[in-house]
Amino acid sequence: MKIFATIDATRTAARAARRQGLRVGLVPTMGALHEGHLSLVRAAKAHSDFVVVSIFVNPLQFGPKEDLSKYPRTFEHDRALLEKEGVDLIFAPSEVEMYPGGAVTFVNVDVLSDRLDGQSRPGHFRGVTTVVSKLFRIVEPDKAFFGQKDAAQIAIIKRMVRDLDIPVEIVVCPIVREREGLAMSSRNTYLSPEQRKQALVLSRALKHVQQLFNQGERRAEQLVRAGKHVFAEEPAVRLDYFSIVDPDSLEPVEQAVAGTLVAVAAFVGTTRLIDNVILGG
Ligand code: AMP
Repeated sequence: MKIFATIDATRTAARAARRQGLRVGLVPTMGALHEGHLSLVRAAKAHSDFVVVSIFVNPLQFGPKEDLSKYPRTFEHDRALLEKEGVDLIFAPSEVEMYPGGAVTFVNVDVLSDRLDGQSRPGHFRGVTTVVSKLFRIVEPDKAFFGQKDAAQIAIIKRMVRDLDIPVEIVVCPIVREREGLAMSSRNTYLSPEQRKQALVLSRALKHVQQLFNQGERRAEQLVRAGKHVFAEEPAVRLDYFSIVDPDSLEPVEQAVAGTLVAVAAFVGTTRLIDNVILGG
């Protein structure tokens, strides 16, 4: 497994692989890897021949009051996990490698980037789309693998790829959860044992809404009300949003249908967690 910190070396290696007729797969991450990330790596292994995993805690997608400095960095552990999975290349650039002094060019997907997390985290998605479009230009992957866990991110990246004619296939992988239902996240390491229990309210509320939908409820207002009601059982958890939206436009719907996205964000202590479910799925 190669480990590169420079754009040049990574681009050269990925191009050499493609020239040999190998299909290149990219898995962008911020490190602190868990089974959720590894499921993307396994999908990449299954659907491509040369797998690149990027590890970069992208400062551009963190707000000024967010957890950039304390975000978990576990490179040695990540390296060992990826080696075991048979990854071909880790791209782990520094901040200056990705954003040399004077970088003032950004990629923004208008409208969508202001919805869901974009509403509570202004500039977040601009940071995501800027770094992901750079990664696409560096690695030039045939396929790129993302987790359904970040449902708004999926919609926004798909739109960016379409709008900018980027020749990459976006592959979406299901949410990997802990046994009790908590969606895996690098940020779960911030939670105390007590908070981990409280955090189960996210998946519990989503499951409840899914059940109501399966029983025939289609009115988004009723479904949101029922979801929020579950949150009321856990006053220690502060809801940020509970939204029922079209999965592509991220626009709220009045009537839910199979394929509608139910997305939630909430603070457990100071830790912000997100989760979602696709109705009828
Ligand atoms: P991150 O390191 O948080 O930027 O995540 C990197 C990729 O892993 C993103 O595409 C996430 O959606 C995906 N991911 C994170 N957690 C999970 C999970 N629990 N299940 C599936 N994919 C995940």
